Amino acid sequence: MQNTTYDAIIVGGGLSGLIAALTIQKAGYKTAILEQTNRLGGLCGTQIHDDYEFVLACNDFGQGFVQILKELDIDIDFIPIKNLFYFEQTAIQLPPNISTAFRLLTQANNFRKLINGFKEEKHTTLQQVLDGGSFPAHFKDYVNLISYASGASPHDMSLETIKELFSKEYNYGYEKSVIPKGGTQHLANQLVEYFIKRGGEVFNNTTYISHSFQNDIHKIQTLDGTFEAYKVVSSLGRWEDYPENSKPSLSLSMLCLAISPPFKYPKGIHAISYFPRNMEAWLHQLDQGLVADTFGFHFFKSDLDTGNKYQAINVYFFAPRGEDFPTTTRKREMESYILKHIERILPGFHDHILYSKYLSAGEYQQTNQCSSIVSQYLVPTGFQKPSIYKQETDTYYIGNSVYPPGEHAGGAVLSGKLAGTMVAQSLSKKNSVVVAQE
Ligand SMILES: Cc1cc2nc3c(=O)[nH]c(=O)nc-3n(C[C@H](O)[C@H](O)[C@H](O)COP(=O)(O)OP(=O)(O)OC[C@H]3O[C@@H](n4cnc5c(N)ncnc54)[C@H](O)[C@@H]3O)c2cc1C
Repeated sequence: MQNTTYDAIIVGGGLSGLIAALTIQKAGYKTAILEQTNRLGGLCGTQIHDDYEFVLACNDFGQGFVQILKELDIDIDFIPIKNLFYFEQTAIQLPPNISTAFRLLTQANNFRKLINGFKEEKHTTLQQVLDGGSFPAHFKDYVNLISYASGASPHDMSLETIKELFSKEYNYGYEKSVIPKGGTQHLANQLVEYFIKRGGEVFNNTTYISHSFQNDIHKIQTLDGTFEAYKVVSSLGRWEDYPENSKPSLSLSMLCLAISPPFKYPKGIHAISYFPRNMEAWLHQLDQGLVADTFGFHFFKSDLDTGNKYQAINVYFFAPRGEDFPTTTRKREMESYILKHIERILPGFHDHILYSKYLSAGEYQQTNQCSSIVSQYLVPTGFQKPSIYKQETDTYYIGNSVYPPGEHAGGAVLSGKLAGTMVAQSLSKKNSVVVAQE
């Protein structure tokens, strides 16, 4: 049992937990983080296989996150990135270069039709809009980038979700993405350093079990004893408040590749994607648990400090739903398909592979103790994510299970900021009541 009663305790030291903790701390309150593993960052971190380090999960961030860090007086270096998308032979760069801008301009009419389709009341999913507009196949593939990024078939992409992703209100800013200098674990470590320097406390290897609320104090049970706090913020999520007809997106499988330094990865480019024609068909097939003969994938080079011994590349791809532990033969087929297409895009790549590790979705979960599901719940139209605060238990929730929308780090950190602000306001009211009574 700890002797201290903290103003606030945060359960889970992922990005949402770190931002909530830093926000409450900035308002002057004594804050601690309980984290079940031996490192902080959650999905923002690295994994090590046979002495080779790779990005664990999230790798690129939007301007909204950068802005939140500024508000917290946190100085972290990011690198602006460009991404390349190969739709078979056609390459598009985002943010657009001149040739992409020209290509997109030629699609102005289709974009207009697409926006009108979004406005039609009868349409609730992206698939309905695409079916209703007699769009050319290549244009549908461009639009379905959104479905791929969400790990979902366009049949499951609700228009509300898409609108929210691009809403000015949330200002996620992924159109000008950045990656952290030094890699993702370095980013998380810097946040932890700020938190500790400013007086915060971190309890690693401390697994939360439950908490109860009595006489204005929360008692938090962990595998390593009880903690006390006036406020509790939990990144365990409010999944129990989701409707039965929501479903998880596809989970990512991963190929971690160490590439020898002489190989020239395209300068200034972060991620490269390959998409065969008819994205809606192969995404739908994968979603139905069927093997797709052709499927898309993307890969990126991270900014990890590897001592110039290798270049750390992650390849992300979706296996058929449910194929969490594929056979060795299936894995070989998937890997050789992926490497064949990377070789076409980047000739000479294959000869520079020093090391390769295939992690299916199931193996990823077992190795890293976290899930590679891209969107935990694809929700039916009309469902709004639960709010941050749950009055019954006086608990604040953060992460992708609660408001605001968006199944990405941008949404998670915004929830951390909002929950942190609400906790600080509530603590200040509580303290002013105590002073007034005195
Ligand atoms: C493969 C993959 C790639 C992604 N790529 C991107 C990307 O490029 N850009 C992007 O913006 N988003 C990306 N995302 C989404 C992004 O990673 C998440 O939105 C974000 O990291 C969520 O942060 P979080 O703090 O809410 O949750 P998490 O990172 O999951 O953190 C939760 C923390 O709580 C801890 N915890 C859990 N249970 C307990 C317990 N009982 N007691 C104590 N501690 C506990 C966990 O160990 C963990 O540290 C990706 C997601 C995946 C799966």
